[in-house]
Amino acid sequence: MPHTIVSQKCEAVAICKDACPVDCIHFSNNRNKKGTNYYIIDFVKCIDCGVCLSVCPVEGAVIPEEREDLQMIK
Ligand code: SF4
Ligand code: SF4
Repeated sequence: MPHTIVSQKCEAVAICKDACPVDCIHFSNNRNKKGTNYYIIDFVKCIDCGVCLSVCPVEGAVIPEEREDLQMIK
């Protein structure tokens, strides 16, 4: 099952983007309630390796399940 970046928790640190082995994490120009940009995981390309979750410094920003409802699409 793909991982999800919770748009409202992500702070756009981007460590996950650089660490993802299949380059399926993309930047969003939109801002969340924290006032930061955020990143989005492409669920179709994600291979569920868990690297993004292990490198993210923001608690709760990455979760190991597909949650379309928590990830804004733009
Ligand atoms: S999920 Fe974590 S590592 Fe990735 S951009 Fe958001 S805050 Fe940064
Ligand atoms: S689980 Fe792996 S493949 Fe999926 S977004 Fe995270 S780092 Fe990329």
